[in-house]
Amino acid sequence: TTILGIESSCDDTSASVIRNGVMLSNVIASQAVHEAFGGVVPELASRAHQQNIIPVVSEALKRAGVDKSELSAVAFTRGPGLMGSLLVGTSFAKGFSAALNIPMIEVNHLQAHVLAHFIKENEVDKDQPSFPFLCLLVSGGNSQIIKVNSYKDMEVIGQTIDDAAGEAFDKCAKVMGLPYPGGPVIDRLAKDGNPDAFRFNKPHIPGYNYSFSGLKTSFLYLLRDSLKKNDRFIEENKTDLCASLQRTIVEILMDKLRKAAKDLGIKEVAVAGGVSANSAVRKAFEDHAVKYGWKIHVPKFSFTTDNAAMVAITGYYKYLDKDFCSMDTAPFARVEL
Ligand code: ATP
Ligand code: FE
Repeated sequence: TTILGIESSCDDTSASVIRNGVMLSNVIASQAVHEAFGGVVPELASRAHQQNIIPVVSEALKRAGVDKSELSAVAFTRGPGLMGSLLVGTSFAKGFSAALNIPMIEVNHLQAHVLAHFIKENEVDKDQPSFPFLCLLVSGGNSQIIKVNSYKDMEVIGQTIDDAAGEAFDKCAKVMGLPYPGGPVIDRLAKDGNPDAFRFNKPHIPGYNYSFSGLKTSFLYLLRDSLKKNDRFIEENKTDLCASLQRTIVEILMDKLRKAAKDLGIKEVAVAGGVSANSAVRKAFEDHAVKYGWKIHVPKFSFTTDNAAMVAITGYYKYLDKDFCSMDTAPFARVEL
């Protein structure tokens, strides 16, 4: 079984070929056009996808050493994401499927982030999670705790009631005047800072839900009040601000995850999504493995942010279930797991 996966939900155009669960290629074209705007500009994103999609798919097939005629199916991200961006991948998949007369498989982007843990890089690749496990999905648009019962049965047991963790990183970075996306920049600067330098209140939200808008507001107020006294406050405290903010975000994430793991009696815990690239998140997972006996699953960096390998692996499992979709499938900008 050979699956071509296509991801175009936001600002990365990506294509990947997976054969029997083993990744043969994963090509990602990121879009630099958005940097000047401090965020993704949807119209520019869809235009860039249109330019990139054919070369990216050709390159993915070439690197995999696979001819189009060998493909069993084409899997594409149906949503959630930016409508214009999703339309490019969806339309391309339709054309490809019709021309080659192979089935088409729609993939939920969030499910794909979780299933990234099942991408094998070679035949003997092991160390995949066993069901049921908990997955902390932390990305630019989502912060969720998911109970993963099987490849297709996933229960969202907690989620953010306002901003996502990645959004908290990006928005706080923006008010400090850091480039977009701010998450990786904060991560880098935090390495030289003191995480105890500033204290922020943590939210009190019931259950396993998250909230990050209060933290964003208190961060903004701290900057505003401190700048009144010292207009060089940000420059002089940049690394400490980053380290303290990062520490608080990670604590908020881990407090609820730890509670969920304890309540449900699950010790197999994974993390997925762009924020799982964060070094403090990774460190917290390692600490929890030691302290609470968790068996942890932390993805390779290339599988944390958006990529088509996670779409192809999801497509592979859906292919085994003959879970195909029809030509009239339309993308969804917003869709739950
Ligand atoms: P979604 O998957 O919810 O639709 P998305 O696809 O935009 O959202 P991802 O590509 O999974 O999100 O992740 C991007 C987010 O990850 C951005 O908010 C970015 O700042 C954050 N991020 C990436 N690397 C790091 C890091 N090292 N530390 C903190 N945040 C990071
Ligand atoms: Fe994503």
